[in-house]
Amino acid sequence: MDQGDELFTVKRSATGLGLFAIKRIPRGKKIVEYTGPCVPNEEVEKSNGKYFFGVNKRWSIDGSGRDNIARYINHSCAPNAEAIINRDRVWIWSKKTIQPGEEIAYDYGKEYFEGIIKDIGCKCAKCSHSTHSHRNGSRNGSK
Ligand SMILES: [Zn+2]
Repeated sequence: MDQGDELFTVKRSATGLGLFAIKRIPRGKKIVEYTGPCVPNEEVEKSNGKYFFGVNKRWSIDGSGRDNIARYINHSCAPNAEAIINRDRVWIWSKKTIQPGEEIAYDYGKEYFEGIIKDIGCKCAKCSHSTHSHRNGSRNGSK
């Protein structure tokens, strides 16, 4: 863990809390690990949790714990970071140089987008100008 060498902080963003760079983060750097207990995917499917990160066919990480800083990272359709799964661990890496003050965001992937984001409207920087939906659904919508 890169403690003492803080690259980011949790701050209020347009959509709630978000993770923001406080130092310049060069491209291709490990930023933070997405941490939490592993749960079987059958359980994930029965749950309405929003913080599961699928790592393979069988398992997901339940990232809802407060110590999982990576859960504050918002989705973006034009991300500056990406989540890379290596074995059963997930790290968020910078995809490009991130300047201090910039929000760190990655693409949550098609499944999450269609299951959750699409219903409430994407509020990422790229999409926010075209957002016209203000519904407050937080549940996994029916597909
Ligand atoms: Zn978007």
